[in-house]
Order: sequence, then C-alpha cells, then structure tokens
Amino acid sequence: MITILDCYTDEPAGLGVPPYLGTYPRYIAGYLADEGREEVKYTTIDDLRFFRKYHSRIKVPKPSEKTDIFTYNLTNNAERMEEILEKTDTLIVVLGVHVPGKYLSAMPGTLHEVIPLIAGLRCKKILTGPAIFGTQLFGGKRGEQSDLGVFDKIDHELYRMPFEKIKSYAVLGSAILAQIPGQRMIEIETGKGCDIGKCSFCTEPLKNRVAFRENGDIVAEIQECYRRGARFFRLGKQTCFYTLPHAPELLQQIHETCPEIKVLHIDNVNPVKVLLDHKKNNDSITKVVVKYCTSGNVAAFGVESFDLKVVRANTLNCLPTAAFEAVSIINSFGAARGDDGLPRFLPGINIIFGLREESKKTHEENMAWLRKIYSDGLMLRRINIRQVALFEGTSLFNEGRDKFLKKNKRLYWKWRNDIRQQIDFPMLQRVIPKGAILKGCYSEVYDGNTTFCRQFGTYPLIVGVKVRLPLKQFFDLRITGHMLRSVTGEVVEKDDAILQNNPRL
Ligand code: SF4
Repeated sequence: MITILDCYTDEPAGLGVPPYLGTYPRYIAGYLADEGREEVKYTTIDDLRFFRKYHSRIKVPKPSEKTDIFTYNLTNNAERMEEILEKTDTLIVVLGVHVPGKYLSAMPGTLHEVIPLIAGLRCKKILTGPAIFGTQLFGGKRGEQSDLGVFDKIDHELYRMPFEKIKSYAVLGSAILAQIPGQRMIEIETGKGCDIGKCSFCTEPLKNRVAFRENGDIVAEIQECYRRGARFFRLGKQTCFYTLPHAPELLQQIHETCPEIKVLHIDNVNPVKVLLDHKKNNDSITKVVVKYCTSGNVAAFGVESFDLKVVRANTLNCLPTAAFEAVSIINSFGAARGDDGLPRFLPGINIIFGLREESKKTHEENMAWLRKIYSDGLMLRRINIRQVALFEGTSLFNEGRDKFLKKNKRLYWKWRNDIRQQIDFPMLQRVIPKGAILKGCYSEVYDGNTTFCRQFGTYPLIVGVKVRLPLKQFFDLRITGHMLRSVTGEVVEKDDAILQNNPRL
C-alpha cells in the first residue's frame, strides 16, 4: 500500500492548508493510479498526530477552551491509521511552507514534528513538496534545519511534474476527495514560474520555468472534482492569473460546464499585468473575472514595498505608481457588492518586511501610498504583512540575508500596528459595513464562547460570533462590529431554529 501523508503546503503560488486542498497530494495520487497502484491512502498530519500523539482518542475541548486545530482535519482514514501504516510499503510525505501564515483551523506539520513521528515506521519514506527547497512555519527566520536522513528519497519529480503528465494525473487524483469528509476549497493550478520577476526573496523562479496548463486540462480537472461533489474552487496556483493565456475563455468554460459552483476565485495577480490588460485589451480579463467568478474575489498583488529604494534594491517588479493604478482599475469594475455580501472583486496587497535597503522611510512610503488608496475612496480587501523568510538560492540569501530584518526588527510591531489601525480598520468598515450580511459563513472553530466562521474563498474574512454555534455548518451572518482585521457578527434567519434546538448553545 502507498500512503500519502499531507502535512500541508503554503507557497507564494499555491495553498494547500485546510480548508484548501493543495495540488500535490492530488497529482501524486493520480500518478500512482496511472502506474496501476490500486491501494493509495490519503492521510493528513492530523491523522498521524491523532494516532501517535492522541492514541486515537478524540479530545473534546471544554467550553472554555479553543478547538484543537492539530487534529481538526482528520480524513476518513484517521481511525485506521495503525493498520494503514502497518500495511504501508511506501510513505510519501508532502510538506513545506514558504510563505508562513496564520491558519484558523489547521496547523501544518514541520520537519521537526514529522520526522520523529515516522522514524520508526518500517516502510520506504519519500519527502516531496516545497520542503525539498526548505520550509519554515514562522516568518523572519531561516528555513528549518533538519536531518533528512530518515527519508530514503527526496523526490523532486513528484514535486515538479510536467504539465503533459499532470493533464491526466489531476483528473485521476481527484479520487482522493472520497477519503476526505466535508468540503474543501480545491486549489487549482493554471501555470508556474514567473515571466518578469526577479524579486530578491522569491523561490518561484528557482523552482519553475514559466509554463501554463491548457485550458481544456484545467476544465477537465475541475469538472471531475465537481462531479465528485466539490463546489469551492480557487485558481490559486500561479504567479499571476492575468498572465495566463486565454484567461477569459477559461473562466467562461468553467462557468458553463460547472453551473452549480458555489465559489470560483483567483489569487495572485501582478499589478503590471492589470495595467497591460487595461491598455491592450480594454480590461477584458478584469471584466470577465467580475462576470464569471463569484463575489468576494481578490487579486492578491505582490507589491511587497512602496519604497522605491527597496523596490530597486530587491528588483521587485512593481513600482508604487503601477500598484496604485492597478488598485484603481480593479476597484472600478469590482467594487459593487455581490451575492455573498462582499464586493465582487477587490485587490489585496502583500507587504514584506526585512528586504534590502529597508528603513524608516520605507514605512513612511508604505503608509503614504496606503493612505492615498483609502483617501481616494478605493478599497483593499486585505493587506498581508509578513517578515521575509530566507531561503537558500535566493539573491536575498546570497547578499544581505537577514541584515535588514535584524536591523529593523524592533520597529516591525509599530509598523504593522500603524497599518492595522490607520488603514485596515477604516478600510474594513468600507468593505463590509455594519449591518451587511455575509452569506454562507462556515463555522470553523471555537475560542471559548466565540465561534469563528468564514466563507469559503480566496482570502475569506473571519467573523467572530459570540455564541457557540454547531461547527462545520453554514450560516448567514449580520455584521455587528469591526476588529482590526476581522469582524463580529450574529446569525440571521434560518439559523434561529438551530440555535433553539441546540442545547450546547
Ligand atoms: S513577481 Fe516576484 S514574488 Fe512574484 S513570483 Fe515573480 S519573482 Fe516571485
């Protein structure tokens, strides 16, 4: 038996941390099916923790405690882990975090955690995923230093399969959905590599040459997942959605062939490509994204810094003026509120701390441009701020490394806080005002008496509801207040009955 152990992955292009289901386990399962391997088990790091650390006993948290996110994402195989691992002749570990984030209802496995948990297993062990280039769960640190001697093979091929092969593997591999209870947001790959960027910190140009999948192959994969019950899709595995040849046609085909999709979102977009589409094609991609994707959609712009000195020193691909213009363009088409309660399509901005030539001026420039975006009446769905993670092979690692990270570290809390207080907070009130209703929010975790819910989406907004709702159900929530990056809400309509009938509430 071959067992895939999904420890979850998070890369600049590609998210595979639940509730998102990454591409790697699906492609690997497809490859194995293609090789004629009939018995392939899909398991998660949560399953392994459940067996090895919890002795297969469900821990029910007390009402005062948080939901345990270390074993939240059990598969249908969780109860049989002992038997599965005994029968396993090859264990394929999928692991690697390159852009550390905060995860609401999952905790990716680290090498440090996984290695001792699998060391005693009598089977061939293969490591694949972004971790073959290093992994780090926390920003501002170097990649994890681990002895990989426990693995029989570090497999680059399973990590970087050619698109001609993925064509069939992606379709076959969607069979693992049968081993996963509940819904996942299916991460879909459209392309890889970066055609213009040489950003000092980024591993993408090191990992992949530029290539795009055929529209027909992408649609076939989505159709197969859809046939198996998936309804939430994120075209997230690419460095820039606008760079994909025939992006408008792709969205139209998905819309037509899978009419009951509940969420169709995109992810990374290069602001420069939004400008090119604006000039050359009369905004055709932006218009089609608004038309065929579902609302609450976000174009995540990797701006990284609005300080020209930092932009130049790190060969970032986007000038502040271009970023601002692209924000305006997306707003002009996507700002209207859609069916799910959020604006249909908004930009998001990524900022990185710790790049070369970063100084106090960098923060001033970031604030000045973000203030301008706000005062011009524009919207940003979210601003992601992270400290750079250093990976070998990148130009930042080779020159400068953590020099600026160390120098400015003591300022980061204030810088981040300024952005949160002065930009994020008023912006969130503009994006989703009090009284607005967010439809289809999924109740994910408890923290004491608060239930945290989110819509399925590319960058869903967290809503705290001051009551313990039954978990893993959908609610429509009325917004009652704003925090810095999240909102508070109360349940509306149909769910009154659930509230009354549930003695735990
Ligand atoms: S634009 Fe920069 S950050 Fe984005 S993928 Fe290309 S090199 Fe990486």
